[in-house]
Amino acid sequence: MPTEKKEIVVLGAGVIGLQTALALLESGYSVTIVAKYWPGDEHIDYTSSKAGAVSPTYQKMERDIGINPIHKQHWRTHATPDDLQGQRFDKETYEYWLELVKKDEDAGIVLIPSIYIWDHPTPETANSGASIWWSTLVPTFTPLTHPHPHLPATAHFGISYKSFSLNPQKYLTHLLSRTADHGVKTHTHEVHCLSEVFEHVPDAVGVVNCTGLGAIDLVDPVEASKLFPTRGQTILVRGEAEMVRLRLGDGYIAYVVRRPGEGTILGGCKVDGDWNAEVDKELSKEIVERCKILAPELLFDGEFDVISEQVGRRPSRKGGPRIEVEWKEMEGRKRFICHHYGHSGAGYQSSVGSAREAVALVQRELEKQQ
Ligand SMILES: Cc1cc2nc3c(=O)[nH]c(=O)nc-3n(C[C@H](O)[C@H](O)[C@H](O)COP(=O)(O)OP(=O)(O)OC[C@H]3O[C@@H](n4cnc5c(N)ncnc54)[C@H](O)[C@@H]3O)c2cc1C
Repeated sequence: MPTEKKEIVVLGAGVIGLQTALALLESGYSVTIVAKYWPGDEHIDYTSSKAGAVSPTYQKMERDIGINPIHKQHWRTHATPDDLQGQRFDKETYEYWLELVKKDEDAGIVLIPSIYIWDHPTPETANSGASIWWSTLVPTFTPLTHPHPHLPATAHFGISYKSFSLNPQKYLTHLLSRTADHGVKTHTHEVHCLSEVFEHVPDAVGVVNCTGLGAIDLVDPVEASKLFPTRGQTILVRGEAEMVRLRLGDGYIAYVVRRPGEGTILGGCKVDGDWNAEVDKELSKEIVERCKILAPELLFDGEFDVISEQVGRRPSRKGGPRIEVEWKEMEGRKRFICHHYGHSGAGYQSSVGSAREAVALVQRELEKQQ
């Protein structure tokens, strides 16, 4: 715990910026968040919130019935067996959310039954899934073998378990209000270089750079060349799927994620380096066909009732998230920059663990300076 309240700027108000700001505040720092986009804003450059390309029909429906076409987020770890840091981030977030769902119904998170299906053998499917690193973390982890009503005949293996489904807008709003409880200051501004934040917060000892894909314009060219979008496309349909279902097929991923009270998200795709913000209609057809077998309970006369289609850009980075400090002379003083971006498709599910790591790094760096 710092003895006196040092001022720190968090640049960015996505899930990474807000979770980092909260962790800093809880560790006794004074925090100002500077960001262009905030919870409630809608822009494709704001991955944590709504990700663009909403059809005019849908916008009308949104006005009429008050639903919101953001991508549904859920906890599905991507951490490989040798990615111990990723595992730790995802585990800490899972455990944090387990407590949060008990305490706060308004946080936008629910714990729901989930099914995970593999079409082909992988190291994870060996030994009935016993080597899956998170098999002992998630409640009710159960291997599914044929015949099973939730395992398609052509699939190789599956598991059922409890996972989280999350309403991003609600969760971001929850985080922002938690930071407000701790006295956070906020400033809406687009910066063109990192040192610019100190013009607005001159007493700050440093900045945590949580700008997602926006970091491309703020870091050095070598680092910027490591950053790229991973395009995602999802479809919101009417009706609520009974559970989260995800299938890893031959060169594709298909998922259905229930959004309680609003509908179900069908997905998806992951295309590295693709900046296209427009809906790919052919891809939408493929997503729909793949999801029919995953959520037959939502079909009306063999078809989904489509409400909207969305495109989003996951903020990816070669080598995984960057959590790294550098010291620089900025606005007349030596100050730190803690980079904290590049979470690709795992920004929500790793947010708590990743924020704790960034804050621990900041604390160690500041202690070294004393
Ligand atoms: C289709 C899709 C499905 C996904 N599914 C999941 C999932 O199931 N689970 C999961 O964990 N993750 C999922 N993700 C990934 C997740 O959404 C991202 O990892 C996460 O939102 C990234 O958050 P962020 O805070 O790093 O970036 P952003 O949310 O993009 O926030 C960046 C912030 O920085 C600000 N900023 C940037 N540049 C500047 C500047 N120059 N000046 C001022 N402010 C600036 C922005 O205004 C914004 O406030 C999905 C993503 C997509 C697209």
